[in-house]
Amino acid sequence: MTTDTAGRTTIHLVPHTHWDREWYRPFQSFRMQLVDLVDRVLDMLDTEPAFAFTLDGQLATVDDYLEIRPEGEARIRSHVRSGRLAIGPWQILMDEFLVSGETLVRNLEMGWARAEDFGGPMRVGYLPDMFGHVAQMPQILRGAGLADAVVWRGIPAVIDRHAFRWEAPDGSWVRAEYLPAGYGNAAHLFAAPDGLEGAAQRFVEWARPWFGDDPVLAMYGTDHTAPVPELAGLLSRLNEVQEASMMEISTLAGYIDAAPPLRADAPRWRGEMRSGARANVLMGVASARIDIKQAAGRAETLLERYAEPLIALHVAADAWPEPFLRLAWRKVVENSAHDSICGCSVDPVVAQVLVRFAEAQQIAGTLARRAAATVALAVPRGAVAVLNPTPATRSGLVEATLAVPDDWKAVSLELPDGTRIATQELSRTRRVLLETDLRGNAVDELFRRFHGREIFDHAWNGYRIEGRTLTLEVDTDPDPAWLDVDGLRAEVMAAMRAAPDDAWHVRILARPRRTLAASVPAPALGWTAVRPVEGSGGADGAARLVSDGRGLANDLLAVDVSADGTLRLRAADGTEIGGVGRIVDGGDHGDSYNYGPPASDTIVTEAASVAVDSDLAGPVRGRLTVRRAYDWPLGLVADGSARSGETRRTEVVTEIELRAGEPFVRVRVAFDNQSDDHRVRFHVPLPRASDTSVAEGQFAAVTRTMTGEGGYHEEPLGTYPAHGWIDAGGMAVILRHLVEYELAAGDAPSGRELAITLLRSTGLISRNENPYRQDPAGPEIAIPDAQMRGSWEMSFALHPHGGAWTDGGVAAVAERYRHDLLTATGSAPPDAEWPPADAGDPALTLDGRHVAFSSLRRRADGWLEARLVNLADSPVSATLRGSITDARFATLRGEPGRSLEVDGQGNLRLDLGPAEILSVQLRRTETARATAAVLDVSGPRQGA
Ligand SMILES: [Zn+2]
Repeated sequence: MTTDTAGRTTIHLVPHTHWDREWYRPFQSFRMQLVDLVDRVLDMLDTEPAFAFTLDGQLATVDDYLEIRPEGEARIRSHVRSGRLAIGPWQILMDEFLVSGETLVRNLEMGWARAEDFGGPMRVGYLPDMFGHVAQMPQILRGAGLADAVVWRGIPAVIDRHAFRWEAPDGSWVRAEYLPAGYGNAAHLFAAPDGLEGAAQRFVEWARPWFGDDPVLAMYGTDHTAPVPELAGLLSRLNEVQEASMMEISTLAGYIDAAPPLRADAPRWRGEMRSGARANVLMGVASARIDIKQAAGRAETLLERYAEPLIALHVAADAWPEPFLRLAWRKVVENSAHDSICGCSVDPVVAQVLVRFAEAQQIAGTLARRAAATVALAVPRGAVAVLNPTPATRSGLVEATLAVPDDWKAVSLELPDGTRIATQELSRTRRVLLETDLRGNAVDELFRRFHGREIFDHAWNGYRIEGRTLTLEVDTDPDPAWLDVDGLRAEVMAAMRAAPDDAWHVRILARPRRTLAASVPAPALGWTAVRPVEGSGGADGAARLVSDGRGLANDLLAVDVSADGTLRLRAADGTEIGGVGRIVDGGDHGDSYNYGPPASDTIVTEAASVAVDSDLAGPVRGRLTVRRAYDWPLGLVADGSARSGETRRTEVVTEIELRAGEPFVRVRVAFDNQSDDHRVRFHVPLPRASDTSVAEGQFAAVTRTMTGEGGYHEEPLGTYPAHGWIDAGGMAVILRHLVEYELAAGDAPSGRELAITLLRSTGLISRNENPYRQDPAGPEIAIPDAQMRGSWEMSFALHPHGGAWTDGGVAAVAERYRHDLLTATGSAPPDAEWPPADAGDPALTLDGRHVAFSSLRRRADGWLEARLVNLADSPVSATLRGSITDARFATLRGEPGRSLEVDGQGNLRLDLGPAEILSVQLRRTETARATAAVLDVSGPRQGA
C-alpha cells in the first residue's frame, strides 16, 4: 500500500452523503433534512480548514439547498473553488437503464453547466447507487471529457480489485473505481469515537485485498447522513496514535487524483454491468410501476424526436424556445433519479413523478404542435400538413377529418406532385348539431348558446332562411376566415323577430366531414401536404382483412388468430411462428425491486373464453380484436405462500392492427386489473432457437444471455430492461417505452420465447423476506398504488424476420413504429398556392445503415447540433444531406470541435466507428418560417 514517511498506509477518507432526493419520504420532506445537512457541511468547511466534502455527485443537492437558502450561494462557490467541496458532474443521480441515452447526456450537460456557476464540477463520473451500468457509459463519460468512473452495483465477479478498465462497445474506456461494499463502506467508522483506532485498523485490513499497494478509499457517509462535526479533531488524534495507517480527509476527486494510473494487469470489462455478484442489482424495477415508464417514454420521445428537431428545422432560429425546453428537460432529468424512475418510492413520490412527466409532455407536445402549425401556415384550409420526424423519407399513417362533399363516392388524397393515394373511411361526422322549434321572439334563446362565433366547438360560417326554417351553417374551420358575426346575428334576429309568434324550425348544420386514413409518403424530417380529391387512388401494399375475419394480411406480413386467441405470423421472407401472445399470469410475493414468486405459485394461462371481432378491413388499416377472459386470483394468501383461491374474471383485450406497407403487426393489450401481487406477461415464441437476446437502449444494441450473474443471494433472473426494441431468434419486439423482458425456455419448436412484462403488481417498497433476495433494498413500507389496480394498456409491435437484427431491418422498423407522422390542418386561405412551396422536400436526410438519430436541436449562432449513433458493431459511413453550409464536431456537452468538410451539394459525410456516438454541429441554408403563426388566434373557440 502507498505509505507515508513513517511507512503508514494512506487512507483517503471521503466525507459525503448519498442523497436520495425522494424515496421512502417525499421530496419536500427529505429536502428539509438536506438543508440541515448542507448548513452543517458549510459550517464545517468555514471553520475547519482540513475538512472537505463530496456532495453526492449531483447538482440537485445544491439547487434544492439554494432554493431555501439563496444566501448560501457565495459560501458554496468559495468552497467549490477551494477544492474542498466537490459538486456534480450530474444534475441528478439517475438510473441508467430506465431512461433514454439522450436523458443521460442532458443530465450530464445540465449538471456540468450548473457546476460551472460555482467553479466547476467534480471531474469524476460518479455512479454510486445506480442499479447496474449501461454499456455506453464509458463513451458518454469520455465524450464529456471525463476519464474516471466510480461504481458499485452491477460489478461482475471478475473484477477483483478496486480499479479496473471499463470499456464501451466502441472501445473507449475509463478508469473505473469500484467501491467494495458500496458508497458507504466507511459510513460507520466514527460510530464509537473511543474505538476509532480499532475500527480504522479493521477497515484497512478489510480493504487491503481490494487495494493492494494503492492508497485506500474510505467512503464516509451513506443515505441521508451528515458527518460528525468533530471529524477533523477525531482524525488528527487518530493519526497521532495509529501506527499502521494515516487517514486524511479528501474529496472523491482528490482520491482519484492521488490514485496511481491503471496497472497493466488491471481487470478489464467491456459493456454493461448488471451482475449480482456482490450487491443487489434490483432488476425488478424495470417492471415496477409501468405507468412511470410509459410517461417517461412519452415525454422523452416528444422532446427528443418532435419538439426539438421540428422546431429546429421548421421554425425561425430566433424563436427557439430554450426556456421551455430547459424546463421540460429539467422535469425529465429530475425524474430520472434512481428512486424516482424506478418506481420504488412511496405513492406520493410516484404521484409527483407523474406530474413532472405530464408537465414535460405538455411542453414538448405543445411545442411540436406549434412547429406543425407553423408549417401549416403555407397549407390551404381544407388540406393537411404532414410532418415526418424521421431523417429518412417514409410512409406513415395520416388520419384527418376533412370537409368532403356528400356526393363524393370515393375520396383520395392528392400529394403536392399530383399523386393520388387511397384512403379508408373511418367515420363521418354527425351533420346536425341542434334541431329545435322556437318562436320568433325567443331568438335570444338560440344565440345564448353562441360565444361570439363559437357554437358547440364549431365556427359559425353562415345561415339560410327558407320559409320558417333557419339553418345555421357551422364547421370546425372558420370559413370565411373573417366574418362580421354581430352583423350576421342582427340579420337573423331581425328576420325571426319579424314573425315573432310563428314557430321557427332551427337547425345547426355542420359541414359534412369524413375521417379518412391514408398511408402518406413524407420527406425526411420535412413535410408534405395532402388535400382530398374525388375518386380512388392507388393502394400499394394494402392491408386487408382475410378469410373469416380472423386474419389480416398485406404484401409483407400475414396474421391469423388461432382458436385459443394466440397469433400466427407469416412474414414475406418465409419466417413463420404461431402461438404468439399467450397471456401468462403468476403470483408475485416480491416488492418494487425484485419479483419473487410465492412458494406455491398458480400460473394462469388458459382463457375461460375467447372471442374475436374485426372493425377495420383495409386498405389502409386492418384491425382485429381478441377478447380473452381469465380467472386471475385476487391476491395472495395471508402469509404470501400461495395465490388466493378467490378469483376475478378479467378480460384481456388484444387489438391486432396491420397497416398498408408495414412489415410488422401492431399490438395493443389492455385490461382492467383488479388483482394484487401478480405479474402478467405476454409471451412471444421465437421462429428460431437463440440463447441470446439483443436489446436497444442508451445508444447501444446490447447482447444478453438468458440468466444474469448472481452471488449476493439475489436470484440472478434473466429479466432485463429494453428501451427501443428487443430482438431474438428472428423476432423483434418494437417498444414505445421501457419494458422488462426475459428470454425464456418455451414450448415453441425453437424452444425459446420472449416474455414481455405487461404489468407487475406489488404492495411494498421492499419486502424484508423477499423470496428472491436476502439483503433488503429499502424499508418495508406499503405502496398500495403499486398494485396497479385499474385500466392499463401497453402497445408494441412484432416484426418477424430472417437473419440477425441487422439483416431484418429492425432499427428502421423501430424508427417507423416509434415515431408517428405529425399533422396540422392547413390555415392559409383556401385559394392559397397549391402545391405549397417546399412541400414534399426533405429538410435533413440521414443515410446510414443502423445509424440511429438521437437528437437535433439548435445551439448558439445559428448552429444546429445533431447526435447520431452507430448501433452496429462494425464501422459505417453515414451522410447527412440538406443544404448544409458548415459543419464541425462537438463534444457530448456541445462544445464545438474541429471543422468537418461539406461537399458542394451541402452533404456531410461522416464515418462512424463501431457503436460510436457522434455529435456534430451544422449550419444550413435556412428555409424555416417566421412564427407569428404560432400565436393561437385561428381557432373558433372562445372563452366560456
Ligand atoms: Zn440511492
